[in-house]
Amino acid sequence: MTTVQDPQEASTAHHRQLALDAGRELEDAPALEVLRWAADTFGSRFCVTSSMEDAVVAHLASRVLPGVHVVFLDTGYHFPETIGTRDAVAAVMDVEVITLTPRQSVAEQDAQYGPRLHDRSPDLCCAMRKVQPLEEGLRAYDAWATGLRRDESPARSLTPVVGWDERRQKVKVSPIARWTQQDVDAYIAEHGVLTNPLLSDGYASVGCAPCTRRVLEGEDARAGRWAGFSKTECGLHL
Ligand code: SF4
Repeated sequence: MTTVQDPQEASTAHHRQLALDAGRELEDAPALEVLRWAADTFGSRFCVTSSMEDAVVAHLASRVLPGVHVVFLDTGYHFPETIGTRDAVAAVMDVEVITLTPRQSVAEQDAQYGPRLHDRSPDLCCAMRKVQPLEEGLRAYDAWATGLRRDESPARSLTPVVGWDERRQKVKVSPIARWTQQDVDAYIAEHGVLTNPLLSDGYASVGCAPCTRRVLEGEDARAGRWAGFSKTECGLHL
């Protein structure tokens, strides 16, 4: 008896294998080569996500795929500097910024769950304002790139350069996974890449305003996120 495989399942299995093979082959490759592989393989079905902390990965991707989609999650809780960085990226770079928003406005969420849900249940707040919008927004793509780096925190120390995002059934590309902060700073300086002004004001990692504080001497870059909670990730990368 011949078994006919569902085309969607076949495509997913193909992408999973592509990710695993590329993860091995590109582990030591420069970031541009990793992104070139993603652009050549997925074309317009590939996007970059950016928190607008800086535009390093967006800049790299635009060099191999001009007009690349840069997906930004507007949670409604961002610093004005972050929104300004997003607008500057859209204005001056050869990319198309795609802004995703949660189903509920902050006011609607406050009305249903009470004010300052982020102080009481940040996991639920992140699930509604970040994880769900990203999952819906990524349906238009087969592969997405992130700016994750292994040196940012213990939770990110095993980040693959190319991996399989089991939860979303997508190829996940982290072209600067092996970079250090010094590599990032050097790239920004060499190419004049846009950065969030808060990085020059004591913030090492920029997220939503209520859940981000400046870092102290000796703390890792993400110590200023959800301070007071054991939470270190918003759920986008779990
Ligand atoms: S980072 Fe804070 S404000 Fe932003 S979605 Fe998560 S809990 Fe809510």
